[in-house]
Amino acid sequence: MDKVVALCKRRGFIYSSSEIYGGISGFWDYGPLGVELKNNIKKEWWKSMVQLRDDVVGIDASIIMNPKVWIASGHVEAFTDPLIECKRCHLRFRADNKEDIKNHEATHKGKKVEWTEPKTFNLLVKTYLGVTEEEKDPAYLRGEITQGVFVNFKNVLDSSRIKIPFGIAQIGKAFRNEITPGNFTYRSREFEQMELEFFIQPDEKEAETWFSYWKMERMKWYVSLGMKKENLRLREHQPGERAHYAKRAEDIEYKAPFGWSEFEGVHHRGDWDLSRHKLIYKDADSGREFTPWVIETSGGVDRSALFFLLDSYYEDRDRTLLRLHPKLAPYKAAVFPLVANKKELVDVAQKIYDNLRKGLFVSWDDRGNIGKRYAAQDEIGTPYCITVDYQTLEDKTVTIRDRDTTKQHRIKIEKLEDELTRE
Ligand code: ATP
Repeated sequence: MDKVVALCKRRGFIYSSSEIYGGISGFWDYGPLGVELKNNIKKEWWKSMVQLRDDVVGIDASIIMNPKVWIASGHVEAFTDPLIECKRCHLRFRADNKEDIKNHEATHKGKKVEWTEPKTFNLLVKTYLGVTEEEKDPAYLRGEITQGVFVNFKNVLDSSRIKIPFGIAQIGKAFRNEITPGNFTYRSREFEQMELEFFIQPDEKEAETWFSYWKMERMKWYVSLGMKKENLRLREHQPGERAHYAKRAEDIEYKAPFGWSEFEGVHHRGDWDLSRHKLIYKDADSGREFTPWVIETSGGVDRSALFFLLDSYYEDRDRTLLRLHPKLAPYKAAVFPLVANKKELVDVAQKIYDNLRKGLFVSWDDRGNIGKRYAAQDEIGTPYCITVDYQTLEDKTVTIRDRDTTKQHRIKIEKLEDELTRE
């Protein structure tokens, strides 16, 4: 974990937020490579969940909504964690996080630690707008992106031709006043979610079918982007563990260095949300009116990015590499002239670079020797390195080197784009 965190900072994936002022707990900034990785994750998710399907549409709702949304959704009342405080040093922890509590007690080196009784602590982040009535009428930064979908349920139905069963997907920021942010970006106070709310007939058998379908689809998606199967598992929530809206919940967990950890939840929300917002569905053929049930897949972009990084990190004898799937890697390829001071080589390489980057994100490097350039690209997960050398001037071929095998072969310049975009 420490090595990946160091690599993230050194190579521009992730920095702590407002670092020059000492940082701020639970907030992170994505650097030049991190933003590419995150965008690629979101792009692949959107493609598979929206664009390649006939039964899902997307929306992008606002972060701040009418506060009545959060009262109706139950979040003002029930979106809480149990909070306890160490009476010795007044640090606060989640009462249900046994690991943190044990670690904290150890810092007092055998002295008896007393804790306050657990208090419920609401995770919604409050804010105030314009000159409104302050405490009396706060607004909230959304604690989950889900509610933006529900409040637009009727708008989407009225403005599209979609029929049940169908889904509405969304990607966006959510905010939670986490008591103990930690494990790098894993538990942040500002993070991004990618969610699908899938509306179905109110029927247990339907719910069972779609619940199983979506949890398998979501597992397959992570594996299709290179996550190792043995590092993934599904875990069913126990009744006491479920969120206030969930009739059933299963987590997709990753075998992180800090233990098996949730990074996506599949939830059977029943009619909880639509009925709280007093929304119904009218079947166009039968005229029947009913409140649909909802199966939800709720994933975290930041937790996925972290686990894709951890999963792809390798140390292979003298090199460090990220074996990121080409669809996720920040750069698809890097282009090098063999040496920087031979104009003929540089010109050809520059042409290849300009051409490739019309369709792909490609890096350029002409510093140091080829070995050093390979090492620098391996460390950030670039799948291919392309070198223009003297033979290129004779036969219009370049060498292409594979990140994972380190094998090289020659290829015609005109074939490069096909080779790099081969699925
Ligand atoms: P946890 O039990 O870890 O607090 P949760 O069960 O409250 O998570 P959900 O409400 O189901 O999480 O949110 C769905 C997804 O949103 C999570 O699987 C995770 O990927 C992401 N997520 C939730 N809270 C955070 C957070 N504090 N930091 C980063 N991602 C988060």
